Amino acid sequence: MVELSETQLRTIEQRLSERETELRNRVREAKEAVAERPSAQGPQVEDLAAEGEQRFRTGIEHVEMVRDQEELVDIDKAHERIRLGSYGECIDCGQVITFERLAAQPTATRCLVDQEAYEKKHGTNLRYTA
Ligand SMILES: [Zn+2]
Repeated sequence: MVELSETQLRTIEQRLSERETELRNRVREAKEAVAERPSAQGPQVEDLAAEGEQRFRTGIEHVEMVRDQEELVDIDKAHERIRLGSYGECIDCGQVITFERLAAQPTATRCLVDQEAYEKKHGTNLRYTA
């Protein structure tokens, strides 16, 4: 069993932090956009089609925001696992996940084999295909 080196862990922590900042900014911007939206301005949304589109767009933004917030939770958990020293272990088989996989997806909790098996059973994880 090959464990991650100190340098590799630090690279991953760096990536997690960058992603975290990016996501936090996006969630904040999305919240600000919602707050600034002139929802009470009657004349502008008199047109029902426009109103429908507005609602549709708000729905998409909402889904994206939820996804971002879920990823932030995953990032938090990854930080926690690094602190506890259990980072990089597959939660199913206990093997160390390859650094290449973790570098590409620092919040991964399963090795490639188990992730594929999991997705086959539960359907593709949409979060990572977007
Ligand atoms: Zn595994």
